[in-house]
Amino acid sequence: MSFKFHKEVETCVDCRLCWEVCPVNTVRGGDVYTPQEKIMSLAKVIAGDQLSQEEMDNIYLSTRCGACDDVCPSNIPITEIIQYERALLAGQGCEPQNTTGISRNIMELNSPGGMDPAKRFDWVTSDLEMDPESDTAYMTGCWIAYSQPQIARSTIRLLNHAGVKPRLLDQERCCGFFLIDNGHFDQAKERAVDFVEYIESLGVKKVIASCPGCLTTMRDHYASLYRDPDFEVLYSLDIFAEMIREGMLEPKPLDLTVSIRDACPLRDMKDIPREIVRSTGAEINELFDGRHVCCGGPAGLKPNFPETSADIAMLSVKDYKTRSEALISYCPFCMHHISGVCNASQEELDMRDVSVLLAESVLGKDGAL
Ligand code: SF4
Ligand code: SF4
Repeated sequence: MSFKFHKEVETCVDCRLCWEVCPVNTVRGGDVYTPQEKIMSLAKVIAGDQLSQEEMDNIYLSTRCGACDDVCPSNIPITEIIQYERALLAGQGCEPQNTTGISRNIMELNSPGGMDPAKRFDWVTSDLEMDPESDTAYMTGCWIAYSQPQIARSTIRLLNHAGVKPRLLDQERCCGFFLIDNGHFDQAKERAVDFVEYIESLGVKKVIASCPGCLTTMRDHYASLYRDPDFEVLYSLDIFAEMIREGMLEPKPLDLTVSIRDACPLRDMKDIPREIVRSTGAEINELFDGRHVCCGGPAGLKPNFPETSADIAMLSVKDYKTRSEALISYCPFCMHHISGVCNASQEELDMRDVSVLLAESVLGKDGAL
């Protein structure tokens, strides 16, 4: 039998390295919910055969963090295969109801959580300076706008301090990252077309994003879903690192030991957040001795398997507490997920975003509110 990804799946050498790095497997244990087993279901999914409950669950028991891709000696695109299986299952009407519901929220209400679109810019405070005529826009993103507004405020204050006044995108909407994770390619393309054309119609030439999900979706995925936009998508932390090097931002020392939670979509550029954190004088003690472990929230794991998702979040919390005073993140969804899990279990947590830490260092405590 031959099918898409058939050759890739056949090259599995059963080394089980992917088992060891998978956060789902770490908390679930056993030999059922492994990355390897996820890709072994592909022939059945393509054939439309009935999957067992375990096989079905396993395809959705993934944050698509990419840790398995990184270690596979056969270079099997495990996360791409999971995405493809999800696309097929969605087409067969078999995906979890929560996944369908969140996708509908994105398409109809412009955010995964179905939040009130009229409240998207409630994070804007009177001290923030925007220029509606600027050709540089700030993309807030859903999780920052509705859950972690301090990230947006710190980002704008730092930009303002360095003389940059961006505009907002009045018709900002969810970038569609969740749709891509779950193989909803037609919806993701519709989103890409509408959003790219809207931003271009404003004459915007640069979009600054703080959220790793928004950044990679708009910078990398829109080009393959639709076309290269007529604007650049820039990462706020890249801009801040450059501003620090050029003396436009001058961090003052913070007396703090920290561990950094890396963001899965940006796990190949870990140096930039570390450069910024070091500039504040904070001492970095690497989480998991430098191993990458997802927060446990993305790609539908949180709504579909809340206990597994929470258990994965607690891995980071427990580990940072053995090493540092604070957990530092640069992903609003990691912050949203981990702080929610800690609130629910009354676990103490000192978790801060890199931009917020930098704002505190450059501007003082008020810069970080
Ligand atoms: S992407 Fe992450 S969560 Fe999903 S199978 Fe691979 S290691 Fe496990
Ligand atoms: S790491 Fe790759 S080759 Fe090894 S068991 Fe997993 S999928 Fe197979």
